[in-house]
Amino acid sequence: MINHYTTGYYKEPGPKLDQESPFESMMQRFRFAAEILNLDEGMFHFLASPEKQVTVSVPLVRDNGDIEVYEGYRVIHDNVLGPSKGGIRYSPDVTLEEVKALAAWMTWKCAVVNVPFGGAKGGVRCNPSEFSDRELERLTRRYTASMLGIFGPDRDIPAPDMNTNEQVMTWIMDTYSMNSQKTETAVVTGKPIILGGSKGRKEATGRGVVTTVLAALSKEGRMPNKVSVAVQGFGNVGSVSARLLYEQGAKIVAISDVSGGLYNSNGIDIPAAIEYTANGRKPLEGFPGGDKITNEELLKLKCDVLIPAAKEDQINRKNAADINARIIAEGANGPITANADNILEEKEIMVIPDILANAGGVTVSYFEWVQDRQGYFWTEERVNRRLNRMMRDAFDNIYKVSEEHDITLRQAAYVYAIDKVATTLKMRGIYA
Ligand code: NAD
Repeated sequence: MINHYTTGYYKEPGPKLDQESPFESMMQRFRFAAEILNLDEGMFHFLASPEKQVTVSVPLVRDNGDIEVYEGYRVIHDNVLGPSKGGIRYSPDVTLEEVKALAAWMTWKCAVVNVPFGGAKGGVRCNPSEFSDRELERLTRRYTASMLGIFGPDRDIPAPDMNTNEQVMTWIMDTYSMNSQKTETAVVTGKPIILGGSKGRKEATGRGVVTTVLAALSKEGRMPNKVSVAVQGFGNVGSVSARLLYEQGAKIVAISDVSGGLYNSNGIDIPAAIEYTANGRKPLEGFPGGDKITNEELLKLKCDVLIPAAKEDQINRKNAADINARIIAEGANGPITANADNILEEKEIMVIPDILANAGGVTVSYFEWVQDRQGYFWTEERVNRRLNRMMRDAFDNIYKVSEEHDITLRQAAYVYAIDKVATTLKMRGIYA
């Protein structure tokens, strides 16, 4: 019996994109950068259109024998700079429109940090919390089988995203390898270290955020041990960013998660908070050492550095005027809406945009791919050193573009990325 007829394949499309959605925000910023670059119309359309979009039906035999059918997607936004790269999400809300926007986002992110990849994204419209491990494995292997002509170490390289993890990546790698009749670890990233994953990958995004924050502080002639920091979100990105800045001597005056926030003007003991939350896996609620605040209050605190590292759309036209930080580093994807950009610019707040600040993750994914292809694995120290260098170079490049055009770091990041892809495309030419 097909009992997922309404919740799987045939579900209504997800919410429409609106002015404050992260995807529409990205498109607004893309259009602005295209104007600065005086991009001709044909090039604009080329860069705005995905190279390939694939939709498949993914049948799943449940443990009780029922057959259900889910919709799976993979969108290659472009492969101008190299093979395309991007995560796969399992979510009941994922839509082709969303995947298309996220694939473009990956193109700009890879270009900003000079990683030789194009952008892609994929997803299966399902609720994985309803599945047993065996069901999840069958769904993943069937989705991968449908994408055998798309994925490949030289073509398109998936990675984890919402509700997918090391185990899901391992199943993708194994299914692909079985069909190629050889082990191909480089076909996905985000694998366990024992199977060709990279040391340093788990901390990479937070580490990259901190590299860009330190670079921004040095442009202002400020020492990290003299600044106050507020971090929204205490998961992977937030807790690592807070810990590394704490280790640099910064005073972390506020942290939060979905259960609420904590404020202490003398600074919070971050290693103790990390232990309390088991590395950000358990809620912060009840952690002593500060006064309770809400997430909204945290965003408005007077501090030197604010790191929104929880979710999208946190700083928007309603609260942007009340933000009191000097520097904001976007740990999360899209935590500031396009409508808030101008308000923050008027307040002269430096915003380190997501496509730069949180690109440490994709940078170390690139390192994972390089190591898999070499069959030679680096020490964590080497990974971190190379990551710091790439993030620092990326920050300096974007900072220079922002000075040249007298634009914000966000506008500069889009200008840099779009210019890089457009220039490469012009050299390659349009194959006909
Ligand atoms: P995570 O699940 O490990 O942590 C998310 C944190 O945000 C948790 O502490 C959670 O309690 C908190 N949170 C959730 N909803 C909240 C709310 N409404 N208010 C306040 N806090 C809330 O996720 P993560 O891997 O740290 O990712 C965080 C963000 O960074 C996401 O936007 C993600 O897309 C982005 N990102 C992550 C990576 C990565 O490598 N992990 C890379 C690039 C971007």
